Amino acid sequence: MSEYEVVPQVKDFQPYSAGLSISEIKEKYGLSQVLKMASNENPLGTPPLAARAISGYAEFAFRYPRSGNPRLCSELASFLNVDRESIVPGNGSDEIIDLLIRILVRPGRDNVCAFSPCFSIYALQSRLAGVEFRQAPLEENMSFDWDKLLALTDENTKIVFVTNPDNPSGHCVDSRELMELSRRLPPKAVLILDEAYVDFASDMQNISLATRVRELANVAVIRTFSKMFGLAGLRLGYGILPAKLADYLRRVRLPFSVNILAQEAGIAALRDEFFYQKTRETVLAGREYLLRELSGLGCRVCPSQANFIMFTPPADARAVFERLLARGIIIRPLKSYGLDDSLRVSIGNKRENESFVSALKGIIHG
Ligand code: PMP
Repeated sequence: MSEYEVVPQVKDFQPYSAGLSISEIKEKYGLSQVLKMASNENPLGTPPLAARAISGYAEFAFRYPRSGNPRLCSELASFLNVDRESIVPGNGSDEIIDLLIRILVRPGRDNVCAFSPCFSIYALQSRLAGVEFRQAPLEENMSFDWDKLLALTDENTKIVFVTNPDNPSGHCVDSRELMELSRRLPPKAVLILDEAYVDFASDMQNISLATRVRELANVAVIRTFSKMFGLAGLRLGYGILPAKLADYLRRVRLPFSVNILAQEAGIAALRDEFFYQKTRETVLAGREYLLRELSGLGCRVCPSQANFIMFTPPADARAVFERLLARGIIIRPLKSYGLDDSLRVSIGNKRENESFVSALKGIIHG
């Protein structure tokens, strides 16, 4: 066979490329130390209670997990004060995004709407599912214009994605605006609120719609353990969904996509209150420091409610990125988001933030 007959859209895809690894960068530039401030991971590492749970459960790695991860769902329900039946865990929130697209949208007929730029997985999984992906531009200051988003929707719109706080800008809106948006959607559309970064918002109680899902039939919330809960490598996320939608998702999800170590680490991370508070303090203090320093260096900075900051340096962004890399600091160019002149830096711990600022000063003034 000279050619496999795959669905045509597959040929437009490229493998996910995360750039050079830490050891490749060390070798390329002859560095002994590299700081990764590119993927919005937790600046304090793995929660200690989760690390202990992973070691403790290592001997159970030969067992399949309980399908549906009921213990994790119960712990999450009490942590979040939501109904247990509304929670569906997944292999990262990526899996929940993918499954929601696949069960809600009919290929070739329906459409999915979001802002531009937005988190790439919404577009990629929509394209793979064979559905039209429509995007409304963000405003110049990266804020949301609901009228522009709503103008894209029609009777075949099944999903509207909103990321709050947003990636890559960190822009954030309060829940009243989102409730209003949900009331204005076409009848078959579900508003999927991606709250990956909600724990870093100064006023998170007024940002999240997690506890309102039970009363709003057309709103679903997705969350992750990859950021605040320090478990990106274990792949754990979940949806907080209206009962009927949760039921459908449970019917189709792969039974063992959340493994035993991820489940136990997740439960332990929820109980690690000290780690949660320490992370929040570190990120909020680091955010203020970086906002101040970046502005002081002549960068145009987006006010952020997340654990990263988007900025436009007063020099060529690609060159700044490369020169930081050569000094052992990895941040994120935003070319793939269509923002060639901008960069995104994840908020690190105090030492990382100071090293980043000092390297950037050298590049801009040097
Ligand atoms: N949503 C947003 C907005 C993200 O930035 C990310 C991770 N970069 C995810 C979802 C995916 O998170 P997970 O690691 O849980 O798949």
